[in-house]
Amino acid sequence: MQLTNLKGIGKKTAEKLILLGIEQVIDLLFHLPLRYQDKTKITDIADLSFGQTALIEGQVVKTYLINSRRPMLVCEINDGTDTIALKFFNYFYSQKAKMIPGSYIRAFGEIRYGKNMMEILHPEYQHFDKPLPLQDSLTAIYPKSEGINQSTIQKAINQVIELLKKGEIKVEEFLPKDILQSLQLPTLKEALIYIHKPPADADTNALLASKHQTQQRLILEEILAHLLAMKKIKQQAQALYAPELPISKTHIAQFKSLLPFALTNAQDKVVNEIFNDIALNHPMQRLVQGDVGSGKTVVAALAIQAAFYQNHQSAMMAPTEILAEQHYKTLSTWFDENDIVFLSGAIKGKERIKVLEKIKNGVKIVIGTHALFQKDVIFNALGLVIIDEQHRFGVHQRLALRNKGQFEALQPHMLIMTATPIPRTLAQTAYANLDISIIDELPPGRQEISTLVISNDKMQQIAVRIKANCENGAQAYWVCTLIEESEMLRAKAANDSFEELKEWFPDLRIGLVHGRLKSSEKQDIMNQFKAHKLDLLVATTVIEVGVDVPNASLMVIENAERLGLSQLHQLRGRVGRGNTKSHCVLMYQAPLGDVAKQRLDIMRQTNDGFLIARHDLKIRGAGELLGSKQKGAVQFRLADYERDKSIFQQAQQLASELIIDYPEICQKIIDRWIVSSDEVSNV
Ligand code: ADP
Ligand code: MG
Repeated sequence: MQLTNLKGIGKKTAEKLILLGIEQVIDLLFHLPLRYQDKTKITDIADLSFGQTALIEGQVVKTYLINSRRPMLVCEINDGTDTIALKFFNYFYSQKAKMIPGSYIRAFGEIRYGKNMMEILHPEYQHFDKPLPLQDSLTAIYPKSEGINQSTIQKAINQVIELLKKGEIKVEEFLPKDILQSLQLPTLKEALIYIHKPPADADTNALLASKHQTQQRLILEEILAHLLAMKKIKQQAQALYAPELPISKTHIAQFKSLLPFALTNAQDKVVNEIFNDIALNHPMQRLVQGDVGSGKTVVAALAIQAAFYQNHQSAMMAPTEILAEQHYKTLSTWFDENDIVFLSGAIKGKERIKVLEKIKNGVKIVIGTHALFQKDVIFNALGLVIIDEQHRFGVHQRLALRNKGQFEALQPHMLIMTATPIPRTLAQTAYANLDISIIDELPPGRQEISTLVISNDKMQQIAVRIKANCENGAQAYWVCTLIEESEMLRAKAANDSFEELKEWFPDLRIGLVHGRLKSSEKQDIMNQFKAHKLDLLVATTVIEVGVDVPNASLMVIENAERLGLSQLHQLRGRVGRGNTKSHCVLMYQAPLGDVAKQRLDIMRQTNDGFLIARHDLKIRGAGELLGSKQKGAVQFRLADYERDKSIFQQAQQLASELIIDYPEICQKIIDRWIVSSDEVSNV
């Protein structure tokens, strides 16, 4: 049925509805209310309370104009219990003329506190002389688009609901009866009718909170659609072939003997999961989650070891040059230098040609930034791709990576690492196309980082700490946080702090690193800091991810109020990486806003990345937490991670069941809710 078959919808309106995603009559059913108005009963004026939205009726007592700054029309109504004032800033004289004392008016609006009596500002109202009928259901208010008014949408949807009730249009029920029954959920048809036209006695609180069963029914189906789409992507990938990369016990032992420490149980567990995956001839698609400092690099190195002995190349990509360089150095201590190359955007000219040549000729280990996945980088036998700090890469970079080797007979195995410890249900949904491993344990001996929140003007106190820290043989970071401005301004701000700190601490060896430095300069400074030739490193947030200098045990963050929670957590994770007690000082510019205050409090209270992520989720929402606001992120129309946690869990189990027991309906569910399944994949 065409939209224009509905009464009140002409060609023009139909075109505007398309902008709301409504192309067919059935789409109107899925255009769900934002909220509801209760026009099913009249409330006595004496029973009204402030803030309530109510329908009232009564007789006009008097009508008059007030000439204050803005002239206003006032009409007082009495229903025998009390009097209320209806007030209008914009009015016509004809309006006033009709409000004759003794006549009857019904009005609807929010009850406000007034000087002499309660009042409603700009109510909807109508005159009547015979009793008016009441609505028999709550009135749904819909999201609008420009040029279509609320009543046009309401009337159109009312017609569709009638057609649905009469069976003249149908919504196909995809969820099997037994499943609906066991979850005590209504059918789709029942749910839609209820949501658009809730009965007068409906639980409005539940409806407004999206907690009503009928809404949960729809939310469940939406989540299911996403999960099924992601699982489909996973299945498709699993149907591809990859090189088998088994590793012998001897080679594992040999590698471990190079390490100055024993792996934690959590690392061992994850390493085994990876070994099991890559020994098979289908591409691994595994996400390793581990809080900052949990030791993900060595896990990646073991996977590389497996590829190495099977004569396959490994490519490891990091989001910043500093981090990529660090990985290069770390891995150079575990593998022969001749087997590793480094590639970033900063490597140019002859040097670059040489590196590209080596990659083409099959050098075993390639470490770099996203420059690794540009067109002219040609691998010889790429067996393993590792993406470190995956959340820092944009969608395009991730896609470029997925496409690398797309036309090869064998796909590389894929290992994705992230320190963003997103809550489990969120991870399972957002990354349903991946297998997930969690390093849920820190190496032994780590101590809580104690965090201090202090105002910018207490420099004296901070100076004492820095001095004491460095005189004890430890090192410190000073982080400048000018964000969103140009790299140049950031560099300048860091430079100012650098000069100032040199005056404060004439005896300390101080270095400065920021994004404007040449690659070799950055590297040089980082190496000096690592080798303890510097005591204090002044840096922009270029050191935010991955940087590992265990002897650094103090971090001062300037204007910490400017940063988000997960960024603060990442930064703070640069200290507390050794066995000494570490400290973090968060400096702020007073006065602090509410959200900033909340964030700094959380940072002071906990070191637990998962807990911090939960708070971050509440403050910022899931899209941002996953670092992917762009198209391609998991965006739900109805579902909400925090509110619908239990439905997400239900959906998880249900999706697995449906794939096995009802494969034929999976695609239908996906098609109903998801326009293009390209939209859901994360990697
Ligand atoms: P992540 O990348 O997870 O933040 P890294 O891989 O950089 O962490 O490791 C952090 C530090 O912990 C490094 O200095 C590393 O050498 C060390 N480390 C890793 N695993 C262990 C372990 N099992 N025992 C002791 N130290 C470890
Ligand atoms: Mg790391």
